[in-house]
This record gives sequence, structure tokens and C-alpha cells, in this order.
Amino acid sequence: MKAFVGVDMGGTNLRAGIVDIERGIVLTSNMVPTLAREGPVAVMARMADLIKAAIVSCGLGIEEIGGVGIGVPGVLDLERGLTLFLPNLPGTWSNIPLSATVSGKTNLPVFLLNDARSITYGEWRFGAGRGVDTMACFTIGTGIGGGLVINGKLHLGIGGTGGELGHQTIDFNGPVCGCGNRGCLEAFASGPAIAGMGIKAVIQGMTTSIGKMVDYDLNKITPEVIFEAARQGDPIAKDIYEQAGSYIGVAVANVLVSVGPRKVVIGGGVAAAGDLLLEPIRRTARERVRIIPADQTEIVQAGLGLNAGLLGAAMWAANKLDRV
Ligand SMILES: [Zn+2]
Repeated sequence: MKAFVGVDMGGTNLRAGIVDIERGIVLTSNMVPTLAREGPVAVMARMADLIKAAIVSCGLGIEEIGGVGIGVPGVLDLERGLTLFLPNLPGTWSNIPLSATVSGKTNLPVFLLNDARSITYGEWRFGAGRGVDTMACFTIGTGIGGGLVINGKLHLGIGGTGGELGHQTIDFNGPVCGCGNRGCLEAFASGPAIAGMGIKAVIQGMTTSIGKMVDYDLNKITPEVIFEAARQGDPIAKDIYEQAGSYIGVAVANVLVSVGPRKVVIGGGVAAAGDLLLEPIRRTARERVRIIPADQTEIVQAGLGLNAGLLGAAMWAANKLDRV
């Protein structure tokens, strides 16, 4: 068995999984809180301890592990193993030697990859994107991440920054996005943007069950609450997903004409809404793409859930070491 460690570095939790890269399965996984406010030195020490604990709890010795891949939420220098900008972590981790530090503490080779690219890679090798040579992946959650596989290879671009599909402009007069640009997809269809549409509907006094479902505590309105309302037939809630899906569909259309993927995989927490979100995505993408045969592109829900990032990061490390 070839075992690698995949790490999912989140703003709230750190997860480490032992991955059998031949079968594409997570054998065991461990999780601890990130406690990001303690800063990079403490977080990296906790991550190294978590990796060692994960190896022990899987009943393996360190010599049986090929290496470690870390899915990181932000901008990286892949060649030098540095974090450059992690927008959701305190201090934003400018020029932190994450790879060398964790490698030094674990005695294992460590490779970094953006978290959405890790999910993309995992879904391509083992999930909903399996078997095609070109695919795009959108991860719809607190933000919107993305990744591309082109001609059988994960597309990296400059230092691994290529594939930020959530930060394509879909309305050049649109609202300011967290990245500083105006009108990014993320500003229209991320989890908080969808929640915002629900809050607006309740404040405007529209006829919807969303307000009642949270006892009119607007802070409790989430994409999940709106999904539940839509599932129960609430027309405003259905409209909100229709809107979000249309925005994502425009972005998917842009990717179809620029990349020509055989599959587009939609993942992340918001994608749990399934066809409620996927149908308007498919419809919008097909309406807008006329120049290439868009009906040959399958637009599907991601298949691996939370394990996609662990599998992808572990596979990435194996790939960098020429083990796959
Ligand atoms: Zn943006």
C-alpha cells in the first residue's frame, strides 16, 4: 500500500487523513481546531502534531508514509512552499514557510496546493470528474473556489494561482468582492450572498416562510435554511436558488467557451442543494453557449464531500514525488 497524508487547512479546523492513494480512500482522519488567532508558529506546530497523531491512529509508522500534501485556503508560492496570502486567517500569513516548517517537524516531504485545487484534483482522480481529460470544478461555500484540469493535468498557472473561477467578473458594475474586484461570481452566489438574498426577502416583507423558520432572527438565515424552505415549496426560496444558479451558470458558460471541459463539477457546502442549484446552472450555461457543443459537457454535483480535499492533497504530494 502507498499511504500519503492529506491535510485540509481550514480557518476553523485542521483535518489530516491517511490516504491509500492506489484505492483512493481515506483510511482514517483526525481533526483539531485551527485556533488561527494564535498565529502561524502555533498553527504549524499543531498541524505537525496532528499529522503524527493521524499516522499513529492508522497503525502505521512514519517510514510507511510517502509524504504530506496540504490544501491551503489562499495564495501560495508552490515552488518555495510558502503561503503568500490567506485572507481568512488572522495576519494573512505573508511569506510563511509552511512546507519547510511542517516537513522539519514530521521528517516527511511536504507539498502545498490551494484548497480548491486540492478538491479539484481529488474529484478528478477519484470522484465526479473521474475519467475525463479536461474538467472544471467550482467549490461553492463561504467563498467560491475553483480549479481546472486541462488535457490530463491539473492546471497551475503562475505559482498555482490559475483556476480562481469564483473571481471572474460576471457584472462589471457589480458589488465589491472580498478580493477587491467588482462583480465577481463570489459576490453573487457564495453561501453568504445566498443568505443575504434570504435576509433581504424577509426584511422586504415578502411572502416567504424563511423568516418564520428562524423565529425572525436574521443571523440564523443560512443557505441550508433557504434550501429547506425551497424543499417545502416556498417560491421565494426557490427563486433565490434560481438566481444563484443563474449567476453560476454564467460563470460556467465562460469556462465552457474558454476551456471546453467534458465535465463541470459543482462542490462545496452550497452544492448540497443538488438539482435546485444545478438545474438553473445547466440551463443558463446551455442558453448562453452557442459556439461550441455545450450539451456535450456534463454539469454534475461533486461526489467526495469533505474527503475530496484530503484525497486531492495526498495525491498531489504523491504526484510531486513521481509516485503516481
Ligand atoms: Zn473576487
